[in-house]
Amino acid sequence: MKLHEYQAKTIFAEHGIAIPRGRVADTKEQARDIAKELGGRVVVKAQVLVGGRGKAGGVKVADTPAAALKHAGEILGMQIKDLPVRKVLVDEAAAIKTEIYFGITNDRSARKPVMIASASGGIDIEEVAAQTPEKIIREHVDPFLGLRDYQLRHIASMIDLPREHWAAFAKIAHGLYNVYKNTDATLAEINPLVITEANQLVALDGKLVVDDNALYKHPELETLRDSDEETPAETEARIHGLSYVALDGEIGCMVNGAGLAMATMDIIQLYGGRPANFLDVGGGAGAEKVAAALRIILRDSKVKALLINIFGGITRCDEVARGVLTALETVGARLPMVVRLVGTNEEEGRKLLADAHMLTATSLADAAQKVVAAAGGAR
Ligand code: GDP
Ligand code: MN
Repeated sequence: MKLHEYQAKTIFAEHGIAIPRGRVADTKEQARDIAKELGGRVVVKAQVLVGGRGKAGGVKVADTPAAALKHAGEILGMQIKDLPVRKVLVDEAAAIKTEIYFGITNDRSARKPVMIASASGGIDIEEVAAQTPEKIIREHVDPFLGLRDYQLRHIASMIDLPREHWAAFAKIAHGLYNVYKNTDATLAEINPLVITEANQLVALDGKLVVDDNALYKHPELETLRDSDEETPAETEARIHGLSYVALDGEIGCMVNGAGLAMATMDIIQLYGGRPANFLDVGGGAGAEKVAAALRIILRDSKVKALLINIFGGITRCDEVARGVLTALETVGARLPMVVRLVGTNEEEGRKLLADAHMLTATSLADAAQKVVAAAGGAR
């Protein structure tokens, strides 16, 4: 789950990281009032869950409350990478001397957190990483030892941070590491971390991505979720506990088990088709879950045919078949459907579906060939 900048920065501040004063607004008038309250120059910033807002024109400095009103009006009417801007953050503007990049993320291959820093922070950090990778400093953290001060001194010297800022930098780095650890984040990032003209080290931007699998430990973070930024299909999948990832193809897949779902996608491709999604309904899926899965898949207008591939272990195939039939009554799909049911009570399940004029299959290869043909043949 991604958090908005204003949410991330609030959490950063709770961990001792210096951030600018500011508040979030949903209207341009609110933005103007916040600007008045802050006094002086402000920066108006689109709150959308994508990067590159600055380059897209979603970050604008305003010298007066009237200018803040104008910028907020424009930014609130924008879409950035297809996401509508519904909120703006109005922060006290900083006079920037230097922009630093500092982030902490998981390094899966090292099985450790890694701190990443660069003296060339700001909106072009991707280009810096691609063209001058030597300007990106990495330092792994031993999760059992935690962050050690010598590591911070190493980073500070590698990014040529003037010594007068080392203590402030250590405080921010420890704060960010604690944010990363305490929220079970997969990414905690400050870009830019700036040195201001007044010689303060301040986090101007904040990004926090929390591991969805750890959210059950953080009910307070779950309430920060912005379901506006999820597609309706993703929201429905989450509510019903389905693992769903939309893809570009034309064959909808409803499968139980992640491994079987991946194998199903592979074999569809082997026979020249393209999966429209990954969807794992999980074990013991009843009619309600099956109906939700069908609704999610059928919402995708690219889907030309559907493959239901269920292995009945604990789940009984006849129950799944009844679930599919009940679901179809409420969903009313008119697409060709191929069903492969294998396992407990499979014959009974297949019979129920064949009576309902659905194509049935026994082997995975047979099912894949039938569904590719039903979707218009191999490409
Ligand atoms: P992003 O483009 O989505 O990463 O948004 P950022 O919050 O990082 O802002 C983009 C850029 O806008 C920063 O790299 C700064 O150069 C500039 N910027 C952001 N806040 C301020 C500010 O308070 N004062 C000034 N002068 N520039 C700012
Ligand atoms: Mn940024």
